[in-house]
Amino acid sequence: MDLPFHGKKVLLRVDFNVPLDEKYHITDDTRMQAALPTIKKILDQGGAVILLSHLGRPQKKRLPDGRLDTERFTLRHLVPRLSELLQRPVVFSEETVGPKAKEKAASLLPGEVLLLENTRFNPGETSGDPDFARQLAELADLYVNDAFGTAHRRHASTAVVAEYFPKGKKSFGLLMERELANARKVLEQAEHPMTAIIGGAKVSDKLLLLERLVHFADRLIIGGGMAYTFIRAQGGHTGQSLVEEDRLDVARKVLSTAKERHTEIHLPADSIIANRFAPDAETRVCSSYEIPDGWMGLDIGPQARQQFAETISTSKTILWNGPMGVFEMPAFAEGTKEIAKAVAAATKNGAFSLVGGGDSVAALKQTGLDKAVSFVSTGGGALLEFLEGKKLPAIESMEK
Ligand code: AMP
Repeated sequence: MDLPFHGKKVLLRVDFNVPLDEKYHITDDTRMQAALPTIKKILDQGGAVILLSHLGRPQKKRLPDGRLDTERFTLRHLVPRLSELLQRPVVFSEETVGPKAKEKAASLLPGEVLLLENTRFNPGETSGDPDFARQLAELADLYVNDAFGTAHRRHASTAVVAEYFPKGKKSFGLLMERELANARKVLEQAEHPMTAIIGGAKVSDKLLLLERLVHFADRLIIGGGMAYTFIRAQGGHTGQSLVEEDRLDVARKVLSTAKERHTEIHLPADSIIANRFAPDAETRVCSSYEIPDGWMGLDIGPQARQQFAETISTSKTILWNGPMGVFEMPAFAEGTKEIAKAVAAATKNGAFSLVGGGDSVAALKQTGLDKAVSFVSTGGGALLEFLEGKKLPAIESMEK
């Protein structure tokens, strides 16, 4: 992020998509905190910052009469907290582009901060409208993108706007640079053995990732709901567990590729099974291959936890995406917690660990271990697509 910021106006795309309560108070400002180093660097070097972000999905969650719910989705809610974090006043523009936004941007002095209204109030944001992007670009001299979470979308304020700035006038921010460096560390510079832990609900969401990981991980731990499709594919009896019948072939292919490539596949030997999908369901420990009819696997069992933890403890690089069970319900959260502990312990012993994807991060925070891993990614979908080997539009347009 080495641009000549001194005396320049810098359009900085951040991810301020923070959760708000019903009174529009910020309930978790992690994303704002994460952008501070980049904002401060520009300000310290004598630049002025024009902040750009989306908040929620205002086009999808319109009022009953069809109007935008500007009261709910305005970025104005963020101004007091942002001023506090930056220890300076923040000017707000109720327009994202247009004469008022232009005027406020033009009168900005070095060291000052302007926050523009929610980019998604403009329908051109998600459609990647070049005209909207051009109007954004006209507000500043330089462009910095620090919003990794939206890097996989070709939106006006992420990918398209960058095309209006030549090389040398645009850059990734510090957070984005760290995200990319850490993801590359797992993909390109992994120390071996490398273990990928993949969990979550469905095989279909993580198909491409599984197919890719089976090639470059040494060990693949598969937990969560998706494990049962693999267990069924091997002839196991899975009861009412989440099984994607139309993905059995894919699961078999992953298993056979693993055999060819000598990639170890670890599936949960046992499960915590329940007679209902409910927090107060009756539960039992059972072999994952012999789940009775009417019962479903909702967490990995004690034997699986121990086996997975042993595999993790002898790994040098660890990638974790997706919970091992229905961690939102305390009765089925233990497996995920044990894995979080194992990843933290391995990290303490010198392994590099990257945790990404909304739910695994939430699970990690639940155990208070989010500081005990090497890197927690802020990107859910963006990280997955990067790991799948796809080209992310916001990254590509920075290189043009
Ligand atoms: P994902 O977004 O794909 O990472 O999936 C996360 C979701 O998977 C969470 O909401 C979990 O509750 C759910 N999940 C994890 N394990 C299971 C399971 N055994 N059965 C059903 N859902 C599960």
